[in-house]
Amino acid sequence: MQSQALTPKFRVAICGGGPGGLALAVTLLRAADGGAPVTIDIYEAAPELATVGAGISVWPRTRALLEELGLMEELRGRDRRGAIRETGRRRRSGLGFTFRKSDQAQASKNFFELQVPTNPLLIHRSALLEALKRGLNVPSMSTCTVHTSSRLLSYTPAEAGGVTLHFAGGATAHADVLVGADGVRSAVRQTMFSSYSPPVKPRWTGVVAYRSLVRREDLERLFKGHQAGKRAMVYSGKDRHLVTYPISRGEDINFVGFYTVPGAYESKASYPGKWVRDVPVEDVKACYEGWEDEVQAVTKCVKKATAWGIHVMDDVPRCVDGQVAILGDAMHAMETHFGAGGGQAMEDAYILGRILAHPRTALHSQSGKVDVVAALRIYERARFRFASSLVEKTRVVGKMYEFANGCEPDPDLVTSVHSAQNEDARKRGEAWAKRWGEEVTNLWRWQWDIALGKDWLAAEKMLLEEAGRTLEARL
Ligand SMILES: Cc1cc2nc3c(=O)[nH]c(=O)nc-3n(C[C@H](O)[C@H](O)[C@H](O)COP(=O)(O)OP(=O)(O)OC[C@H]3O[C@@H](n4cnc5c(N)ncnc54)[C@H](O)[C@@H]3O)c2cc1C
Repeated sequence: MQSQALTPKFRVAICGGGPGGLALAVTLLRAADGGAPVTIDIYEAAPELATVGAGISVWPRTRALLEELGLMEELRGRDRRGAIRETGRRRRSGLGFTFRKSDQAQASKNFFELQVPTNPLLIHRSALLEALKRGLNVPSMSTCTVHTSSRLLSYTPAEAGGVTLHFAGGATAHADVLVGADGVRSAVRQTMFSSYSPPVKPRWTGVVAYRSLVRREDLERLFKGHQAGKRAMVYSGKDRHLVTYPISRGEDINFVGFYTVPGAYESKASYPGKWVRDVPVEDVKACYEGWEDEVQAVTKCVKKATAWGIHVMDDVPRCVDGQVAILGDAMHAMETHFGAGGGQAMEDAYILGRILAHPRTALHSQSGKVDVVAALRIYERARFRFASSLVEKTRVVGKMYEFANGCEPDPDLVTSVHSAQNEDARKRGEAWAKRWGEEVTNLWRWQWDIALGKDWLAAEKMLLEEAGRTLEARL
């Protein structure tokens, strides 16, 4: 949407049109300061704003942000057209995931249900991106232009101030602020830390994820009443686990099967081969050979799959350098076990967007206003430590799902299912499950204990204090 003839306060270049980059643009458009809009350019390497992927879960903190940006309406609308499914029956609170030990031939039982205060959205990634793309059309004083097929290679400081962007093919562009929302292999981050030794780079976790979609009707034919069609499940086993949840109004089941190569993370091994590649379905089936029938039934329904080498960014020293910032996977790519990487990218974007669009933020420092360099530093203080801490937390919870790091299940967890008379065994199994469940719940608690709104208020307070100091300095 074109603005009136107001002079923009500065030009923001966003490198990357994934969830983080698009959420930043939508926030900037929505929060536009009427008196001083911004000019936004999104540079995306791909020929269009669309990405590979399958299901994605969006938890309460991030849902609040989507409400705030006016996108939940859009996503709820998708519900009727079948792109969305909410677990439970849209109660305010409900089930997160149901856990089950499955790495044995004997049928097991569900041993723990993660209760969450608000149901997660379980949607197709393309539905989320579509909603964000539509959000770019919101009426605003600011303007947004999307440049596809524009792969950033690096940036340099511009002589006249700001940043010069260098693209594959030789094109260049100028911006006052550059934000790298360009994913785990970020070119912006690479430039930011180009002089660092050892280099700041993604680390393979030793985890490989098989992603697929399963048709519910196929599963129902094989295994009548299969619970994966109704609820979000985690099937756990030693060094591997499988996550499933229904999407598309229950017509499809999102499938993410994980296995861990023991010791690979600790030895800093490189991932062999392409990070994302198609794999034969036999590989997926082989991964869960010998597991209980409930899991085998799901793997039998996998028609095609991609394998993702899961990499994290666990050693990024900071997320801002002068007029350049990074967000999302570029800053804190994490394992997937909280289903939160995309949500965290959008949260970074929301806080950063509101800081940049704030009436007290200007290109250059002036009475009562902070300049963009100071504004980016406030973003860093508001987001860096929290988001980066989730990288390790996610790793810890993932190990629990795979009964690693000293949380091996009590042998009675499964045997008691098959010896109903053995009361003591049942009690031992249940006591173990209770302890395990409490630990997992505590690791998940950040998702609903800390509201994003509070984080924004804390960031705004820092901004206002900083702006106040510029005022005092001039008195
Ligand atoms: C198996 C799996 C399951 C997951 N499940 C969930 C889930 O349930 N919930 C959740 O919240 N998250 C989940 N995630 C994580 C989530 O997908 C990521 O955290 C999220 O996509 C990060 O968003 P981003 O915008 O930072 O980066 P990306 O999504 O990686 O987007 C980066 C964009 O930048 C573009 N780009 C890259 N390099 C350049 C360049 N040099 N120049 C210009 N453009 C460039 C890319 O083409 C892309 O469009 C999952 C991830 C995996 C692998």
